[in-house]
Amino acid sequence: MRLGVLGGTFDPVHFGHLRLAESARETDPLELDKVLFIPAGQPWRKSNRAVSDPTHRAAMLSLAMEGNAAFEMSTLELERGGPTYTVDTLEVLHDRYPGSDLTLILGADALADLPNWREPERILALARPAVASRHNSTDGELERQALPAGALERVLWVRMEPLEISGSDIRDKVRRGLSIRYLLPDVVRLYIEEHRLYLD
Ligand code: ATP
Ligand code: MG
Repeated sequence: MRLGVLGGTFDPVHFGHLRLAESARETDPLELDKVLFIPAGQPWRKSNRAVSDPTHRAAMLSLAMEGNAAFEMSTLELERGGPTYTVDTLEVLHDRYPGSDLTLILGADALADLPNWREPERILALARPAVASRHNSTDGELERQALPAGALERVLWVRMEPLEISGSDIRDKVRRGLSIRYLLPDVVRLYIEEHRLYLD
């Protein structure tokens, strides 16, 4: 099986994540059978801000993925507790899906941050990185420069229409009373309203 892995805080999940997963799935020669969305438990790279309750983030994710048979959520990082390390997650998936090809799906900002993660070389040995630009730069030009040494050969560039949507911007808009319509699935927007998320 060809398995795509998309980790994130998903606070909240939005069309940027969904198009990233869908575009990675279709990127030749990937043809992923499945994309696993893995919400991070306690993202250690984001310890400077409070991340919403995992129950909310997982609920929004499953609402957003509804109707796409190739999308699945794994709560393994939520169950593990403690800080989230991608390398541990990939080790677990490697054992859980023996003989599968693992592809780590990343936005370019996440790839640039990779050298700061735990065991980046092991990560690259366990999974092939599939990366999409988050800006309107041609062919990942900007991102290439920020790559960890030796990673370039392993990277598969995902063709995706640039969507400048981020969780931070959505949270900020909610806080300021601005509309978040058309940035994320309506079911997720309604969930945010119903549970009064991001208002503080
Ligand atoms: P935040 O603003 O809180 O950091 P985010 O929108 O960046 O939220 P994350 O959960 O941090 O979402 O991102 C998970 C993964 O999805 C990362 O690899 C990130 O690069 C990627 N990603 C998020 N938004 C986009 C987007 N609009 N286009 C491409 N990739 C994206
Ligand atoms: Mg981010």
